[in-house]
Amino acid sequence: MDFEGITGQREVVENLKRSLSEDRISHAYIFSGPQGIGKKTIARIFAGLLLCSDPRDGATCGRCKACLLMENGTNPDFVSINTDGPGIGVDLVRGIQADSVLRPMYSRHKVYIVKDAAKMTVQAQNCLLKTFEEPPGYVVVILLTTNYESLLETVRSRAQHLQFRKYTHDQVMQVLKARVGGSGSALELIAGYADGNIGQALKLAESSEFSVLRDRLFDLLPRIATGRTSDIFELAAFLEDNRDSIDVVLEIMLAYYRDLLVAREGGGSMLINSDKKDIIMNNARSWHTGRIIGCIDAIAAAGEALRQHANYQLATEYLLIRLQG
Ligand SMILES: [Zn+2]
Repeated sequence: MDFEGITGQREVVENLKRSLSEDRISHAYIFSGPQGIGKKTIARIFAGLLLCSDPRDGATCGRCKACLLMENGTNPDFVSINTDGPGIGVDLVRGIQADSVLRPMYSRHKVYIVKDAAKMTVQAQNCLLKTFEEPPGYVVVILLTTNYESLLETVRSRAQHLQFRKYTHDQVMQVLKARVGGSGSALELIAGYADGNIGQALKLAESSEFSVLRDRLFDLLPRIATGRTSDIFELAAFLEDNRDSIDVVLEIMLAYYRDLLVAREGGGSMLINSDKKDIIMNNARSWHTGRIIGCIDAIAAAGEALRQHANYQLATEYLLIRLQG
């Protein structure tokens, strides 16, 4: 494993490479930036390099015990904490603490990655601070978060902060071409949707239903503006049927309303859904800017509520009410 295959994030990658080559490793790092921007991938590569007993020219050897175990996902010196629940409680952090007392088995370091670190309760963060205060020399903790500000100031001040940036449209296209292939116009559309987020772009590109869902929504959304009950029921049924794809559905809905807004402001040439320009232009005329912004807010709020494990039916019903204005 090495950083060669990583597109973008030059600043972060150079910083990590430098600390490896100068052997100046912090005990705690915070990787912050939007979902799907490469925090986890880069953290894993960095961990692999920290653990390898014979790294050369910034790449792991792939042959030492640590590398082989890392490859299998069974390296005891590497712990990745990932919880689906709403919070990360103090018990998990106590687990890290207890484990960190044991010396590494195959490496000079022991690496802990905590995904969604802002989900740590205050108590959990305070507990983690104790590990930061007197860390055994070999411990490296990497916190991943989309929300740097919501970590405690005391945690932030003890960790090295590396901020991940959005990718440019060209970088997203480069990755899509290399990893997915296919027609240029389809990839352009996906890159437009992803808005600088590689993980999101790959997710959409790999979603076989993306274009089916988009066509269906471009039929449904203009109709609910009229407020006819049958149309609203139809959209409600669609949301229920596509529960498993709600992330993609909400992205498409956001892009639809964003395009209406852009079109209203005279930006007809900057549409994400440029292939559906006629539908957008026709609808943009009859909408007030304030109402479009209200819809965008409602969709963003629904997405946030669902990420926080809100009741699906309640969240989508409330969304429908708000979309009708
Ligand atoms: Zn190795």
